[in-house]
Amino acid sequence: MKRLIASYVASFARWICRSLHSLVVPQASLAGCAARVASLVCRKLRLLVCRSLRFASLPQASLASLSQVSLAGFVVLLLLVLDGATASAQEVICHRGYWDTEGSAQNSIRSLIKADSIGAWGSEFDVWMTADGVLVVNHDETFEGITIETAKWKQLKNMRLKNGEALPTLEQMLECGKSLKTRLIVEMKPHTKREQELEAARKIVKMVKEMGLEERVEYITFSYQGMKNLKELAPDGTPVYYLNGELSPSQLVELGVAGIDYSIGVMRDHPQWIDEAHSLGMKVNVWTVNSDRDMEWCINYGVDFITTNAPERLQNMLEP
Ligand code: MG
Repeated sequence: MKRLIASYVASFARWICRSLHSLVVPQASLAGCAARVASLVCRKLRLLVCRSLRFASLPQASLASLSQVSLAGFVVLLLLVLDGATASAQEVICHRGYWDTEGSAQNSIRSLIKADSIGAWGSEFDVWMTADGVLVVNHDETFEGITIETAKWKQLKNMRLKNGEALPTLEQMLECGKSLKTRLIVEMKPHTKREQELEAARKIVKMVKEMGLEERVEYITFSYQGMKNLKELAPDGTPVYYLNGELSPSQLVELGVAGIDYSIGVMRDHPQWIDEAHSLGMKVNVWTVNSDRDMEWCINYGVDFITTNAPERLQNMLEP
């Protein structure tokens, strides 16, 4: 038991050292910094005590260790209360669906089902509109060498994804999403022609409404004008996030967007934007967070939504 406690103390000390750099970065407010420090300490202590509990619950546990279990149980309860008072939930979003798993592919129907199957909070996918007005789900502007926004649907409809699925339309994706619980994070891609992008926004919002999914959808986009269009077209309260990374929360708040949705690189350069967004009532999503180091950074900083290609590893890190 002594060795176990010593290893936990060492682990805790190492974690404090790793976290120190983030604690000395200038914060938007002293209160925000204090809340984060309290949340970090509570979270770490809670994890350590939970691990101790599991160890002490082994069959060979002695009477002495049982009393330690009781004490640890009390501490866990206390920490849960403290943690709940100082931190909000952090959610996992699958980037282009949960594709890095058997039978799946990026932006496939399967990736949406897989994201839902692991209980991911949300599943993101990308949407383009063809020249003849069909909304297609794909990340790149081209598929098999064909530029989607200038192509006709008949040129694309027989294309296959890497897992053998047909290239999906938004309609097919939403139809599948109807029976799932995961939130649908719809990224509207910036189109070359402004009129086509506006038409894409209109069609996306209309389709979501017709499918009865308005409460399940959130919109994200790199397009500044697209963000404004989506905000105007979607029902009041629909979350719309901006992806491009050059505007601070204060510069965005008057547009009524739900928050910032920036890359891990941008956020590491501007960590103060997290507190700034929160103080303005906005949320923060960070992408694409794949390394343990970046996941830990987002967790420690109180990022609301973490978009990743490794959702199960992140889930384990959030709730070991
Ligand atoms: Mg995307």
